[in-house]
Amino acid sequence: MQAAMPASPSRSVAIARPDGRVGVPALGDARMVGSWSSGPVGDTPGRPLDSTLMPSLRAPRGTRDLLPAERAAFGRLERIAADLAVRYGYRPIETPLFEQGAVFERGIGAATDVVEKELFRVAPSRGEERERWALRPEATAGIVRAYVEHGLATWPQPVKVALTGPMFRYDRPQAGRYRQFWQWDVEAIGDPGPAVDAELVELGLRFYREVGLADVEVLLNSIGDPACRPPYIAELRAYYGRHETALPEVERERLATNPLRLLDSKDPAMAALNAAAPRITERLCAPCADHFAAVRAHLDALGIGYRVEPALVRGLDYYTRTAFEFYRSGAEGQQQALGGGGRYDGLVQLLGGRPTPGIGFALGLDRVVLALAADGAAEAEVPHPVAVVVGADPSATAERLRVATELRAAGLAVGAELARRKLGRQLEAAVREGAHYAVILGDELADGHVQLRDLWAASQKLVPLADLAALLRRKGGASPQPREGSR
Ligand code: AMP
Repeated sequence: MQAAMPASPSRSVAIARPDGRVGVPALGDARMVGSWSSGPVGDTPGRPLDSTLMPSLRAPRGTRDLLPAERAAFGRLERIAADLAVRYGYRPIETPLFEQGAVFERGIGAATDVVEKELFRVAPSRGEERERWALRPEATAGIVRAYVEHGLATWPQPVKVALTGPMFRYDRPQAGRYRQFWQWDVEAIGDPGPAVDAELVELGLRFYREVGLADVEVLLNSIGDPACRPPYIAELRAYYGRHETALPEVERERLATNPLRLLDSKDPAMAALNAAAPRITERLCAPCADHFAAVRAHLDALGIGYRVEPALVRGLDYYTRTAFEFYRSGAEGQQQALGGGGRYDGLVQLLGGRPTPGIGFALGLDRVVLALAADGAAEAEVPHPVAVVVGADPSATAERLRVATELRAAGLAVGAELARRKLGRQLEAAVREGAHYAVILGDELADGHVQLRDLWAASQKLVPLADLAALLRRKGGASPQPREGSR
C-alpha cells in the first residue's frame, strides 16, 4: 500500500508514507509499526521466527475491524440503502477497489487534497503491469470510468446505479475520520436535472430518516459551470490575494492551486475573511442561476427544507452546479458532514466519454453508525439460530452434526454443539447463542424422535425427527423480544 516499499523489511526502518514523506515509527508505538511497516518483522531467511521479538499485530492505524455487533449495524444500513435503491430505481453496480491512478487524478483533480495527499498508491510486488494504481478514495470516478468503458451511453438514459463499499483515504485518523471507511454511493448519469437533483437530495434525507436519524439537514449551493466559475475563481483569488499575509500557511498554498477550497476552510482564522468573500450564488451565469432556482423549486414542491450555503464548495474538482451536504442539526459548522454530493456535468468527458451530465451523492456509513451510537441506537440484531442441536452423549458429535446439516439443508439457521461437553453446558451455550429451541438427541433417536425444548418458555416435548424441519419453520424462529439491543 505504500508508495515505496523498503527492499528488505527490518525492525527499524525509515518508511515511505503514501504522502511521499518519510517517517520513522516512534519507539513503542505499535499502532504506527502496524500501519507503516511493510512486512513481517524478523523474517530473515534461514533464521527461525522468534515470537518474543514480534511486535503485536494490529489493524493498520485508521482502520478497524467490524466485529459481529458492529458489522450488524453496518449490515442494517446496507439493507436500508439497498431497499431504497430499489424503490427509487437505482440498480446495483460494483467497481474495483483499485483503479488506474489516472482515473482519480483526471477525475477528481490533481490539485485536490484527496489526490495530492490522501491517495493510497498500490504497487504489485511482481508482475508485468507497470500501471500506477490507487485504492479508490470515492466511488464516482470509478463508476463514471465504467460508464465510459462499457459504453453505457448507449443504454436508456439516465443510467442510475448505486453501491456500498469501502473507500480509502490517507488522512489523519480521528473519530469519524478513518483511512478505510464505508459509503453508500448513488449516481444518476445522463440526466441534466433539475428534477433528479431534488430526487437525490430527498433520497439522502429519506435514508437518514429510515435509519433513525430524524434531525439531518441539507445545505445546498450551486458552484456554477465552466462559463461562470472561472471568472468567480479569479475574483476569489484576487480577494484572498489582497489578504495573503493574513492567511494561514496551508490556505496560502491552496490559494495558488485551488482557491475555492479556502471558502470551506474550518480554520477559525479564516472565518471573518470567508464571511466577506465574494459569493458564487450572486455570480452564477443565467443558465446556472435558472438551474439552481429550478432545483430549489423542486425541493419546495416536495416540502423539503434546505439551507442555501454559498460557502459550500465540496472537496472534489469535478462538481458543477448543484452541491449539497448533509449534517446533523447543530453540527453544520463542523468538519464532519454525514454525506454529500453534487452534479458533475464535465466528468464523463474528462474520463474519455462524450459530454454527459451526471449527479450523485456519497453518504458515509461510519458516521451514521457513530451518530446512532451517540443516540444509543446503533446496535442491530446479530443473527442467531432458531435452534441448536445438542445431545445427551457428549461424544456423539457426528450425530449432532448430521441432524443440524439436515435442518440447514432444509433452509433453517441451526447451530450444532460440536464440543464434547455435558448436556447442561451445551444447553447453556445454546441459550448464549440466542437460540429459541434446543433439539436434544438422546435414546429416542433410535426410533426417530428427538426432544424439542423451547428455551424461552422452558417447556419440552417429544417430536418425530421427520417433522422437525417443518415444525421449526412454522415456529419461525423470530425473537419474541429483540436481543442485543436490536431496534
Ligand atoms: P466526500 O466524498 O469527501 O464528500 O465524502 C462523503 C462522505 O463520506 C462524507 O460526508 C463522510 O460521511 C464520509 N467520509 C469521507 N471521508 C471519510 C473518512 N476519512 N472517514 C469516514 N468517513 C468519511
